[in-house]
Amino acid sequence: MQEKNEVDIPVRYIKGVGPKRSSLFEKLGIISVSDLFYYLPRRYEDRSKVAEIGSLGPGDESSVIGDIEKTAVFKARTGTNITEIVINDGTGRIYAVWYNMPFMIKNFKSGQKVLLYGKVELYNRLQITHPVYEILDDEANRESLEVGRIVPVYPVTQDLSQKYMRKTVHNAISRYLGHLPEVLPTYIRARRKLVDAKFAIGNIHFPHSMENLQRAYRRLVFEEFFILQVIMALKRKKQAKKGISHKIREGLLSDFQDLFDFELTEDQKRCIRDIENDMARGIPMNRLLQGDVGSGKTVVAMYALLMAVHSGYQAVMMAPTEILARQHYVTVSQTLMPLGLNIRLLVNGLDDSTKDAVKKEISEGNADIILGTHSVFQENVNYDNLGLVIIDEQHKFGVDQRKSLRDKNIEADTLVMTATPIPRSLVLTVYGDMDISVLKSKPSGRGPVATYWVGEDKRAEVYRFIGEQLDDGRQAFVVCPRIKKGDKTSLASAEEMFEKLSKDIFRRYRVALIHGGKKTEENDKVMRKFGKGEYDILVTTTIVEVGVDIPNATVMLVEQADRYGLAQLHQLRGRIGRGKDMASYCVLMGEPSTEGGKERLNAISTMDDGFQISEKDLDLRGPGEFFGTRQSGLPELKFGDIIRDFKIMEEARIEAFCVIDNDAQLQDQRHLWIKKSIIERFKGKALGKG
Ligand code: ADP
Ligand code: MG
Repeated sequence: MQEKNEVDIPVRYIKGVGPKRSSLFEKLGIISVSDLFYYLPRRYEDRSKVAEIGSLGPGDESSVIGDIEKTAVFKARTGTNITEIVINDGTGRIYAVWYNMPFMIKNFKSGQKVLLYGKVELYNRLQITHPVYEILDDEANRESLEVGRIVPVYPVTQDLSQKYMRKTVHNAISRYLGHLPEVLPTYIRARRKLVDAKFAIGNIHFPHSMENLQRAYRRLVFEEFFILQVIMALKRKKQAKKGISHKIREGLLSDFQDLFDFELTEDQKRCIRDIENDMARGIPMNRLLQGDVGSGKTVVAMYALLMAVHSGYQAVMMAPTEILARQHYVTVSQTLMPLGLNIRLLVNGLDDSTKDAVKKEISEGNADIILGTHSVFQENVNYDNLGLVIIDEQHKFGVDQRKSLRDKNIEADTLVMTATPIPRSLVLTVYGDMDISVLKSKPSGRGPVATYWVGEDKRAEVYRFIGEQLDDGRQAFVVCPRIKKGDKTSLASAEEMFEKLSKDIFRRYRVALIHGGKKTEENDKVMRKFGKGEYDILVTTTIVEVGVDIPNATVMLVEQADRYGLAQLHQLRGRIGRGKDMASYCVLMGEPSTEGGKERLNAISTMDDGFQISEKDLDLRGPGEFFGTRQSGLPELKFGDIIRDFKIMEEARIEAFCVIDNDAQLQDQRHLWIKKSIIERFKGKALGKG
């Protein structure tokens, strides 16, 4: 089906390129004519408007047309060689000047009509230094690529000049644009008011007007998002094979509600309904549950676990760390205990005989609910009849990992929970193949954490305040940006802080230390003891970020807080304020040297809503940084910007899903080029493995 298209031929066939120069294009990643078509100008110069010389002032950047009155080449006293031509258009005179380029003089003759473009300077006369120029001979309206139009400026290398690049792109357009295939069906273009592909490529390089450039750009962004979203839609379709149709007993929800001494929030009920519907359907659930720290996700997850077990299946909930898995285990068994279920923990830290016993119960179908880390999906763990997988991801699992999990448990329903609220624009790009439920409001009784941004001058006061809280029987976190003292940076290290606090400032209290450089089991042990109140202060790095629940910890001091991202600070802060009716305090110590740092610390001390904070974080740092260093699943985009072009993405998504709903195989003649361009994408740097 892949007959060669003319636009796929190598650039060396373009007029003026040839084998030698084609290697220069290759360095820019341009192999085929089509690559060149999609090689975007970095910016444009509007050289289209011709100004009257008499109206020009210094700093103006414009084109002028006039007759050459005089040409001269001479040496200045400094030894500089100067080439000068004088141009008159009837409204005034302007000088074009070249330094140390005596050969320029050959290009001009008195009486010729010439077009100049450049920045106007004013000395005792108007002048443009080293202008772009074009001799306008009598062939009327000869098309120029350099002047009298909006001119593209490309990212080029030393060996490829702008002028040459423009000429080559123009040659390619004249010869091959007619062969450019149209990916977007006419009916979509009509509905979304999009220009066709040829117009778009023609105008993205040589726009006839700024409006046309806008139209071209919008169309290309749309196409890019559209293809991405078609891939999302296809992934989703692919998952939609047969799954388990869970039978949900009438009254189960009210039995569940009776387990709590609080009423489920409206948001929790809504999310539960979403999940109920998904699980009852014969198509596997693939849902993302988003909610700020403390919004009550775990409660929702527990109901899902219960549903699966009640319809006769096993259910597993996986956490990114052992300590979290243990915490889930405690919460889930305590809550669901009255219902007489067999709830099991499976983590590496268990001794071998216990592990073997749990695995046996899993494979014989005796374990109903299994809590654990990724050890719950090790090769030697075989489920008797797995019906639900919950991944408490909090960003720690990569997209690939999630996908391979899903591939392994094709039929089981999947619920992914994240505690960092993800802005909708990113959800659609990274989690675009999933259904989404959101817990917006928090259960009442959880006050916001009072957050203060202070400088070093307040340190003594802060320590005094922490001391008072400890004396009231509370506990505190102290968070540092690095583990060990570094030679080059002045970052506070957890180890030094621990020394200082335990030996000096807080020597009367029990101070403990955890960080990523220690063994997991060691950290877990310390965390458990801290949870039981056996320490007063826990000095830590950001490993404490993930979901730890210690209600009695009411103070957090974050050292060099300007080092962290907004979302990360919010996550950190979420570790405190988990106790009912206890006021909590987060103190951010920081003296940011950048505006961004100041803006972050200001924002976090005044904002409490996780979604708002995420949006702000995305604004400040951009999508690449938002997810941090972990593999995020963000696609590489050529035209579109996830944030700036969000509206276009939404439109493209609607159209893409509509196409796949009606024609999942892309067999319709109108969708032929969509199919081809997707195959093309997967041949190169694939987005995923299908
Ligand atoms: P998350 O997992 O989103 O961080 P949790 O489910 O752990 O949140 O809930 C945080 C705390 O709020 C828990 O102590 C939980 O018992 C409590 N909680 C959950 N739902 C409600 C509710 N509807 N009303 C009051 N408290 C609630
Ligand atoms: Mg939780």
